Amino acid sequence: MIQAVKAPPRLRLKKDLARHIRAGHPWIWRDALEPKTLPSGAVVDIHDSQGGFLARGLWDAHSPIAVRIWTLDPNEILDAGLVRQRVIESLAARRGAIDPATTDAFRMVNGEGDFMPGVVVDCYRDTAVVRFDGDAARAIADWVIEGVREAGRPIGLIRAYERSRAARGRVLFGDEPPEIIEVRENGVRFAVDVRHGQKTGTFLDQRENRRAIRPYCNGVEVANLFSYTGGFSVHAALGGATRVTSVDSAAAALEGARDNFILNGIEPARHVFECADVFDWLARARAAGRRFGVLIVDPPSFAPSEKSVDKALAAYRDLFTASLGVVDSGGVLCAASCSSHVDFEAFLGTLKDASARARRGLRILEVRGQPADHPTVPAFKEGRYLKFLISRSK
Ligand code: SAH
Repeated sequence: MIQAVKAPPRLRLKKDLARHIRAGHPWIWRDALEPKTLPSGAVVDIHDSQGGFLARGLWDAHSPIAVRIWTLDPNEILDAGLVRQRVIESLAARRGAIDPATTDAFRMVNGEGDFMPGVVVDCYRDTAVVRFDGDAARAIADWVIEGVREAGRPIGLIRAYERSRAARGRVLFGDEPPEIIEVRENGVRFAVDVRHGQKTGTFLDQRENRRAIRPYCNGVEVANLFSYTGGFSVHAALGGATRVTSVDSAAAALEGARDNFILNGIEPARHVFECADVFDWLARARAAGRRFGVLIVDPPSFAPSEKSVDKALAAYRDLFTASLGVVDSGGVLCAASCSSHVDFEAFLGTLKDASARARRGLRILEVRGQPADHPTVPAFKEGRYLKFLISRSK
């Protein structure tokens, strides 16, 4: 029996977007709707131009994304129960993707990719770190917390902490998280600072790529550019690299990298940590005739918006061209981009141009992306942001 509820306010679509919404695209931009004054977090129903029900979602009073869609089913009530259910389903969807025996840091809820738009929940052992994208998601924080609490019980979550861009973090349930949480990622140990580290503490999305580079590193010299706290570096060293050079412009990140080496029983003194701008470092390494058997290049997003895409593509092309200048003949280049505005073909294009400019042929060995705990829905290409190509250079 369908429960009778007060009907949410109806918003009519101005633009012909019904097809995209039915296909599962979870965002409606403000200019696609008739103007409306509602508080952030209000449940709204979206109707097509003929007045037929299309979707139900949450209103955001400020973001350019006015509505994020939670359901296409008119009988599904958007309330605490649905949100709790979605968190539980998200965790269940990780079954088989994460091996709890070797990995205790993973993304439990990936926003739009888990039918929970604007809600990200990362687990670091016993601590959930939650991030809300937009006021609509933040408005339902209590519902999310309830869901995380319940879903987290069987996996031993004892606290949740909110990371926010604007404000300082806050405890959502349980106590303050410790300064450092030691986690395991495919059996490798990492120290994570969930209060100050990037994203929710670290880059969980590169977990499987870190493991993937390992077999190429045995017996060769490796450089990891934009190393942050040395995720790829530790894997490279454990994989048998003769020496790993980690380069980052943030001294604190390199300190973290050193600590992560020690945590895994690797002597940092046998490796190199260079605090430098990668572009300068590449020019110097090239001039000094240095060569590496494996070069990992994982820069920050060069394209924060659609407008900056051309500039970003030029930057990737220059970066990979310079990178090829220090890759051994027969060596491996691992090139990444985390910008959602740069799609796979465009990214591949930058590598094609770099290969031509550097006059170095490339065999693409592995086309990789984000791991299974960062799922995306087919209609939402913005969610498939991570590109990772492993190529062997001539
Ligand atoms: N590969 C890392 C994540 C990289 S994040 C991992 O797997 O965890 C991007 C890093 O690039 C940050 O640590 C930032 O400090 C660094 N960075 C940004 N611009 C830089 C530049 N021009 N030169 C050197 N490092 C830079």
